[in-house]
Amino acid sequence: MSGRRFCAGRFLLIGGLMLCLLAACSTFGFAQDGRADDEKPQPASVPPRDVQSRNFLLHTDLNDKDAADLLERLETMLRLISTYWAQPNRKTIECYVVKDLSNWPPNSIAPVGLASIQGKAGVTATTVRSLGRQFDAKSIVYAYANRGTPQHEAVHAYCGQTFGRTGPLWYSEGMAEMGAYWKDGDASVNCGENIVRYIHSTSPKTLNAIVNSNEVTGDSWQNYAWRWALCHLLANNPNYRDRFRPLGLAMLTGQRASFNGTYGNMAEEISFEYLFFLEHFDIGYRADLVFWDWKTKFTSPRGSRKLTSSIQSKAGWQASRCRVQAGTKYEYSASGKWQVDEEAELVDADGSEDGSGRLIGAIFDPKEYKLSDPFELGAYGTFTAETDGELFLRCRDAWHKINDGNAGKMTVQIKLEGSGDPLLDLRQQLR
Ligand SMILES: [Zn+2]
Repeated sequence: MSGRRFCAGRFLLIGGLMLCLLAACSTFGFAQDGRADDEKPQPASVPPRDVQSRNFLLHTDLNDKDAADLLERLETMLRLISTYWAQPNRKTIECYVVKDLSNWPPNSIAPVGLASIQGKAGVTATTVRSLGRQFDAKSIVYAYANRGTPQHEAVHAYCGQTFGRTGPLWYSEGMAEMGAYWKDGDASVNCGENIVRYIHSTSPKTLNAIVNSNEVTGDSWQNYAWRWALCHLLANNPNYRDRFRPLGLAMLTGQRASFNGTYGNMAEEISFEYLFFLEHFDIGYRADLVFWDWKTKFTSPRGSRKLTSSIQSKAGWQASRCRVQAGTKYEYSASGKWQVDEEAELVDADGSEDGSGRLIGAIFDPKEYKLSDPFELGAYGTFTAETDGELFLRCRDAWHKINDGNAGKMTVQIKLEGSGDPLLDLRQQLR
C-alpha cells in the first residue's frame, strides 16, 4: 500500500497587521508510517465531542480509546519538539481530527479544513496578529484521523503559535514529517516503508534542489520524502546536528539565516553523507551512529611503520589512518572480538560463516568525494589497493541493524607488505 503526503501553504498579509499563514498537508493511503489501518480493526467512530489534554483540545469523532492514544502521542511529540526548539508550548493547540465526516453536522468544520479532510489530508491555519515587536498567533489544525497527519500538522501549529512562522518550506515540511515519526529516546529512522522504497527506487534529488528551489507547498509526497531525509540527517548526524538546531531556530525567529550560510563550507561533506544516507538507510538506520569521520588524519605508511586504528562494531565506516596507493600491497592484522547483534556469537575479524562480522574495507577519494566498492579483509592477510585514497574499515552488518546489540571492537594494524618484520597473526592467541 502506498502512502503519500503533500502540503500546500500560503502567506497572506492583510491590512499590514494581520498575517495569515496556511500550511495544508495531504495524505493519501495510510501506510506512510508502515502501520496500515487494516493491521488492527478500528472500532467505530462516535459523535464528535471535545477531548482535552494538557496542551491539546481535540474536536474529534475518534472513539475514547483512539482519542486518548492520539492525545498521548501528540503530548509526547510536543514534549520532544518543544525541548528540541527550547520553547515551551504556551497555548492550547486546537485540532479537528476527523475519522468519518458523516458524523459531523453541516458547517461544523471550516471550509479550509473540510477540503483537506475530504482528501484524507490535513491543514493548519494560523492567524498571526502583529503587535509591534510582539505577535499573537492562533493555529487550528484540521486533520484526517490517520496515523501521521495529526502529528505532522501539530508541528506546524506549535511553530505557528510559538514563533509566528514555520520556516522555509524544506525545513517546515521536513521537520513536520519528522514530528510525525518521532519516537521518544529513539534516533532511528522510523518513516514509512513506502518512503524507503520510493527513495531507493529513484535517482537522488540534489541538496540544492531541495533547499534552494522555488518549490511550493502542496507539490508532491515525493518532495516531502526528500525534505524529511535531509532534515533527519542534519538533525541526527553528529557532524551537522550542532549547527542544525540554531539554524532552525534562527529561521523560525526571522533572523537572517540560511542553509547555505550555515553549511556552505561543508557542502561537499554534507552532499556525500546525504547521498550515502539515501543509499543505505532503512527503518532502524541510525544517522547518529553512522557518520563520516572527516577529522582523522591519514598517513602513507613508509618502511616498517605500522598504523593502528580501533574499529567498532557499532558504527559505520571508520578511519584506518592509512592512506593507500593504487597497486601497492599492504599487510593487516586485526585483534579483538565483536558481535553484530545480541544473539550473535563473539567472533574475530574473519566473521561468521555467513559473512557477517567480517572486517571489510573501502577506499575514499578525498578529492572526488567518492567511495570505492567494499572489499573483504578479515583478521589477517594482505590486500592490494585498487585506487589511491583513504582506507576506511567496518564490521560487516546490515546498515540499519548497527544498533541491535552490536558490541566489541578490533585493533587493526596496517603496514606496507614486505618491509620490516611481518605483522603477527593474533588469531592463534585468541582462539
Ligand atoms: Zn505540512
